Amino acid sequence: MDAKDFFMNGEFLSVERAVISIRTHGFAYGTACFEGIRGYWNEQDQQLYLFRLREHYERLLRSCKILQISLPYTVDQLIEITRELVRRNDQRQDVYIRPVAYKADEMIGVRLHNLTDHFTITAEPFGNYIDITGLHCGVSSWRRIDDNAIPARAKITGSYVNSAFAKSEALQNGFDEAIMLTHEGHVSEGSAENIFLVINGDLVTPAATENILLGITRDTVIELARRELGRITRERQIDRTELYIAEEIFLCGTGAQIAPVVRVDHRSIGDGKVGPISSTLQELYFEVARGRRPEYRAQWCTPVYTQAEAHQRERQALDHPPDARLHHPPDARQSSEVLD
Ligand code: PMP
Repeated sequence: MDAKDFFMNGEFLSVERAVISIRTHGFAYGTACFEGIRGYWNEQDQQLYLFRLREHYERLLRSCKILQISLPYTVDQLIEITRELVRRNDQRQDVYIRPVAYKADEMIGVRLHNLTDHFTITAEPFGNYIDITGLHCGVSSWRRIDDNAIPARAKITGSYVNSAFAKSEALQNGFDEAIMLTHEGHVSEGSAENIFLVINGDLVTPAATENILLGITRDTVIELARRELGRITRERQIDRTELYIAEEIFLCGTGAQIAPVVRVDHRSIGDGKVGPISSTLQELYFEVARGRRPEYRAQWCTPVYTQAEAHQRERQALDHPPDARLHHPPDARQSSEVLD
């Protein structure tokens, strides 16, 4: 269901009341940082699992540190606030959760220090962000912002202007998504996704020092590849033309999930079809994120509803089988809704 409430500065407020002034520092100067977190509805368990919630909040606190924002919450408190928000909204479908920490002063003057910090969380229904059946990517003429300009390892709102330039250029030139290079000309990442290549059977991804956001999905992929496929990922510098000769490429991120790339700059990747490693990892990812793999559930999936609530719903669902169209979000593999 659409959100009834948002969280804002210590309170749950109705969507209509959770507003900011047009004079807000974070709005004028992009002095804010945020997270994008997915919740996956598991019909069988009658449960909404928030994927890697803890790691997202740990990253948010790291972004806050870089941006000199102090939040009055611990990671555990942020987790509880988020569960409570989704429960209040009674959301029983796939959701996207967006916490934002921002400089809230209504004043003119650009800086980071001696400003007031505010914090909000929104939770809303969400389908696919980009196509996950085979993308055609273009290498962007826009370079990825450098660590010494706006640090990419912090998820800072202002730096998404860089992503927006690359994404619009890609779409307006007929591609589905952009691949950005660093100032030195090495592969960095997509507009809002990390990138993996398969080269001579090895999984390869740009190192942490290539101006990437250190993605939580990237980390999930590295872990799943190691544990499930016995493949170690090499984190290294990648040349542009390695994109053209890779056997497989895929993008990954909370929004993108696992999105295979079948062409780059009009060149087919491998045989131009989704490769076996990409499709296996994609399947695994969806299983794990939706809480269908018990061995990962305790580690990575935070349930929103209590056991008692979930069991009660389960019994109700058995007594009154739901109309699938009303209760299921569009199937992740079929929908190609682009929401950016
Ligand atoms: N890079 C950028 C620039 C992003 O915006 C995102 C999405 N948050 C990612 C990578 C992937 O990060 P994650 O897997 O943590 O969502």
